[in-house]
Amino acid sequence: MLPPSSPFPGLWNNQITPYMVEPINNLSPYSPVQFTIMMKARKIGASTCFENAIAYYMDAVPSEILYSTATEALAKDWSKKKISHVIDSLGFRHKLISADNNAKSRATGDRMMTKEYIGGSLDIIAATSGMAKRALDKRVLIIDEVDGVAPMTTTGEGQWTDILIAHTDCWNERRKVGMFSSPTTDEASLINQYYEKGDKRKFLIPCPICGKYIELKFGDKSTSWGLKWETKASLLIDAYYVCEYCGDAFFNEDKDNFYSLQPTCKKEPGKILKPAYWEPTRQTGDPTYRSYQINTLYSPNGMYNFKSIAKDWIEKEEQGEDGMRSFANLRMGLAFKADVTRPSLKKILEHRGAYTRGNVPPGVLFLTMACDVQRGSVNNPNNPPRIELEVMGTGLGYKTWSIDYKVFEGNLDDPYGGAWEEMFQWMKGINGEFYDKDGISYQVKMIGIDCGDADDGRAERVYRFCERWAPFAYPLKGFSQLKARRNEKSDIPGAASFKKYRAAKIGTAGEYVLEVSTIYYKDTLFGRLNINATPDNTHPNGYCDFPADYPDEYYVQLTNTEKLPGGGYKSLKPDEALDCRVYNLCLSDAWLESQVKRTRDEYLSKGADSTWVQMTINSRTVLDHLQAQLTAFKGKN
Ligand SMILES: [Zn+2]
Repeated sequence: MLPPSSPFPGLWNNQITPYMVEPINNLSPYSPVQFTIMMKARKIGASTCFENAIAYYMDAVPSEILYSTATEALAKDWSKKKISHVIDSLGFRHKLISADNNAKSRATGDRMMTKEYIGGSLDIIAATSGMAKRALDKRVLIIDEVDGVAPMTTTGEGQWTDILIAHTDCWNERRKVGMFSSPTTDEASLINQYYEKGDKRKFLIPCPICGKYIELKFGDKSTSWGLKWETKASLLIDAYYVCEYCGDAFFNEDKDNFYSLQPTCKKEPGKILKPAYWEPTRQTGDPTYRSYQINTLYSPNGMYNFKSIAKDWIEKEEQGEDGMRSFANLRMGLAFKADVTRPSLKKILEHRGAYTRGNVPPGVLFLTMACDVQRGSVNNPNNPPRIELEVMGTGLGYKTWSIDYKVFEGNLDDPYGGAWEEMFQWMKGINGEFYDKDGISYQVKMIGIDCGDADDGRAERVYRFCERWAPFAYPLKGFSQLKARRNEKSDIPGAASFKKYRAAKIGTAGEYVLEVSTIYYKDTLFGRLNINATPDNTHPNGYCDFPADYPDEYYVQLTNTEKLPGGGYKSLKPDEALDCRVYNLCLSDAWLESQVKRTRDEYLSKGADSTWVQMTINSRTVLDHLQAQLTAFKGKN
């Protein structure tokens, strides 16, 4: 039975959403499958099916169940509006009784966030709430809206999902873990990571024209197949799907046929075809872990049709990258892949902002400073020995602002003289601070200085210089990629064995150097430079802003590298501005990580539960905290 909130009240009909049959069967106690991962579009009726599965366990196979969703509000909403209706429509509310029910106690088995019944209970929680720690020994774990949870810190500590899954460990092969969500960006999407680990099933339907089995895919203007539409005087008339094999069009109404148990096709009328089915696209050798991806083109007849999808697509395309990001995530059920192609100079120049260098614009929460050391030649006035540096601000949503860019020319042999001393005096003169228009000061939190190769003696001078600025300054060194070591967890999603950066011990004096994966941060920079302002949102998440008075030359340098077909980069000269930015993006991550660790330690020392601390404190909470501090401070002054 389905709740009244469903567009299909009454008996649940497998032919309306045939693609839910297999995932739901995986959850049955008779199936050997333990993990069912579904990366899905909105409006395909998945939530309703999972609710039914939960109700089945409550009623027919009483077990310990944990339902987790992204936020407290969503959890309450799910309890009140979703599962309650399922319980009522299946008519087993009378089974909800407290384990310690007696005449004197007013305890009830039917509370908002806990439903108790003989043989188990259903706990409803927000993924990152303190409640997660009490959720022990669960047989069935359903994690809804996996990607709706603010991303955790990237330091490679346990994901919050891993912590929840650990609660099912004692059930071994009898556990049931269901995870479903529409994805967010490729880089951040957790559901995409779990999907990639599995056998990546696609749902194949028989083409109602030729009878060949096809996956419904969006395609684009360059493909002859996919979702197509007709317009008349820029009005959308109708939308249809073009089969990749026969090139013929079929319509949303054809779902009645190709979703049925006895589908047919026009080419061979009278022949009964095999019903639509899930096909794995990847061999994993693990039959207990299945992953599924489904987009909104599969939305059941009567819910969200081809025409509405086409209309949505046209609108989102007009909104540019932000629009397409949400269309990819919510409708295509795909993680949006950021465009990491080298942006054109014309495009980058559009990032020139409304503030001038040396000033902190609104939005900035903390500053980092990266220095690139150029040995150059004393005899070449066009390439003298020098230090180039960029001060960068980071704000909520990983927005960045370039605050200042400086060049100090001079001898580099003495950490207490030449260009080193000049830079030191400049920094001392400003006390490492920059100001916003309200006169509030922002101190540079972390300084990184490129120490290059150790064998030319430069590294040694950088170590000595960093000691003058301890504990704010660190030597750093770029590597194209950093392979995760045996005891390290990878922290680049989709690249199973690489790291963004690490602190590595060097030299006999015990100095540490920050090793930076330049490929990762160049990809990040290009991805972010491809995020453009729109009339409604001048600073979308990830946006890079620059002072109005930087010369054009700065922007030329900022992307002066060539992306190689294999994924690497070939350096072009000059590129000091690019190097400084790559290092700054890493310093920003590293400083945030240090704050996450510091905050977690603080809570732990006060006796907070370690699971709660791990799940609650992340880079997002640190940024939120900085924002709250700044707002409070501005309020007082
Ligand atoms: Zn066909």
